[in-house]
Amino acid sequence: MGDFVQALVFTIAGIILLWFGYSLFFSPSSPFYPGWTPWSKWGKKNNGRGRPGDPQVCPICSMRLDKGELVKSFAFSSQKGVSDRLMYIRGCFTCLERDVPRRCPICGLELSLDDYLVARMFERPNSRNHVHVLGCNHCKNLGKLIK
Ligand SMILES: [Zn+2]
Ligand SMILES: [Zn+2]
Repeated sequence: MGDFVQALVFTIAGIILLWFGYSLFFSPSSPFYPGWTPWSKWGKKNNGRGRPGDPQVCPICSMRLDKGELVKSFAFSSQKGVSDRLMYIRGCFTCLERDVPRRCPICGLELSLDDYLVARMFERPNSRNHVHVLGCNHCKNLGKLIK
């Protein structure tokens, strides 16, 4: 009986140690965090690459967006009788918070965190809004955003 209890204690201690090891290496606050977790396949942050212009894909870093996640953008209020409005796209959570390449899908220039894309948003009452990227502040000859 004593042997059994000892084995049980060792097993539990082993599981706790394993769990500690995992959370040490795979928690986002850990300095060893590799940017992914073994279970990220099933987790929320399942960012795969998509093609720029696809729905739910960030036009700057071409990362697929999570359901409900939006690119950081600023849309101008629409004028009367005009079905589309101008918007500035600053990027998504991934390319604003992490070190991933940011590029303009039109001119291919690398964008800094202060750069943005200019796009036209077509509001369609019965379906998803359509966003047409025109270019970035460099190829559209616009200044930097004033914060
Ligand atoms: Zn992005
Ligand atoms: Zn550009």
